[in-house]
This record gives sequence, C-alpha cells and structure tokens, in this order.
Amino acid sequence: MISLPRRTLVLPVLAAVTLSACAPSAPTGTNGEPASLKVLASFYPLHYVAERVGGEESAVGSVTPPGADPHNLELSPAKVAELADASVLVYASGFQAAVDEAVSQVSPEQTIDVADAADLSPADGSSSAPDSGGADPHFWLDPQRLAAVADVVAQGFSEIDPENGETYRANAQELSQDLSSLDEEFSTGLADCERRTIVVAHEAYGYLADRYGLKQTGISGIDPESEPAPARIAKLRRVIEGRNVTTIFTESLVNPKVAEVLASDLGMKTALLDPLESLTDPGKDYLDVMRNNLAALRGALNCE
Ligand SMILES: [Zn+2]
Repeated sequence: MISLPRRTLVLPVLAAVTLSACAPSAPTGTNGEPASLKVLASFYPLHYVAERVGGEESAVGSVTPPGADPHNLELSPAKVAELADASVLVYASGFQAAVDEAVSQVSPEQTIDVADAADLSPADGSSSAPDSGGADPHFWLDPQRLAAVADVVAQGFSEIDPENGETYRANAQELSQDLSSLDEEFSTGLADCERRTIVVAHEAYGYLADRYGLKQTGISGIDPESEPAPARIAKLRRVIEGRNVTTIFTESLVNPKVAEVLASDLGMKTALLDPLESLTDPGKDYLDVMRNNLAALRGALNCE
C-alpha cells in the first residue's frame, strides 16, 4: 500500500477566494454602449453561457473569482453587496451554499436559477461523505445539459429586458448549435475505445460519463476537498488493475500529489482533464477546454 499524506487535497485558494474579487461588472456591454443587463454569474460555465446569450447587450461579472474553486466558495461582504447590485444573478441552487445564502439574504433584483433546467441527479453512491445524498452539480460537462440551461437563461434575459429578447433568443440558438456540434464530436470521438474507465481527481464527470458511455472513479468524491479514505484508495487500485487503466487524470485546481503518488506506484501516466469549474487559461473558453478534454480522453482510452 502506498501511504498518503493527510490533507493533501486541501487547497490554498481561500486567500484568492476572499480577496481577489474580480473587477465589478463593467457598466458597458462589449459594444461599448451602456449595457442593458448587468449580469452576475455564480461560476465559470454560467459566466460563459451568460456572455454568449447576453452578447453585446450585457456586462457579465463572476461571483467565483477566475481560477478559484467554486466548491466551498466563501463570499466577502463586498461580493455579497455586488450581488445585491446586479440586475440579474445566474446561479444553480444547491451547488454553492454561500451563494444560496447570499440570495436569501440580499434578495437580488432578479435571479435565474438553472438547477431545474440542468436536470441534476443524485451523486452516485461511491461519493464520499458529506456529498452522499446530495445532487451532483457538474451538469456543464454534459453539452446537452448546458444547452438546456442556455435556453432558460435566454428566457430569463428576455423577460427582464424584453426589448432585446429577440437577440437573446438568437444568441442562445447559436450557442445551442455550438454545443450540439461539441456533443457530436464527443459521441463520435468516444464511440470506439479500448477502455471506458476514467480515473479522475474528483468525481466531476458523472454526467459526461453517462452521456458517452464511460465510467468514472475519483480520488475524491464530488467535492474535491474531501479526503480520500483508505477504502477509496483500495477500490481505486482494484479498478485501475482490473480495467487496465493507464492514466490518472489530474486537474489544475486540485493538488496532484495523491494522483502522482498513485501513478508512480502503479507505473501509470498522469494527464490533465479540466472540470471547467473555473477558467484557468483566459485565452480559452468552454468549447476550447472541452475539446482539449476530448483529446485527453481519447488518448487515455485509446480511441480509434
Ligand atoms: Zn466539482
């Protein structure tokens, strides 16, 4: 057995979360005209959707600072005040307790809760406490679920700003087509693979795995900060050995120590798979990162 240092997955992101609040929503839209909608999105994939749907009519800010882990987010009083000031908040209830609490405290003018549209299902039983029983929040890694969310955001924007309703619906339609192409690339790209099991840093890929016929096993459960229990590591080793897994996927917001120890112990590779909970490279967007993920998956699973 390898011995695992305790607390290796606890992240030094708190300072970033509490201090480096990104610039308050700009008062102008991307066209330089005063924005019709001042939007706050609770974390990256919703930020991406809000920007694509809102287009030039919107100025979109983020509740979760770029590069921070949206799980277990803490909100500064300044951030809570920003929430109260936005014309609309786009969030998924049940994912970020601090955001849910802020919503009930400051009652933002308008909110769009995408949790229903995202069609969340319970996290599978293998997730470690305290996740078990809760819904799996990672809907954005399934392009079809994200497309449904985009429709609801367009509907919400149109109700709040009917004058630009046509534009929002057209933008959502365009995003929907992009997501549909992405979905097809995943379906085709993962159709014929030597292996179908992925070992990942935390279990963010449940919806993606369901959609494309893969199986995930995580070093951590659906919460990246949960510590892997010895039983989980033992199960992981059995999965790796039984399914001829060659690669352990790490992610940039989770300390890769456990993955690296495990990989070197079992003579495996590590590779990056991005759960897109935050945008870590500002030069890329949701579609770019998802395509990188597809390439990483195809390599690890040896797909035709
Ligand atoms: Zn996650």
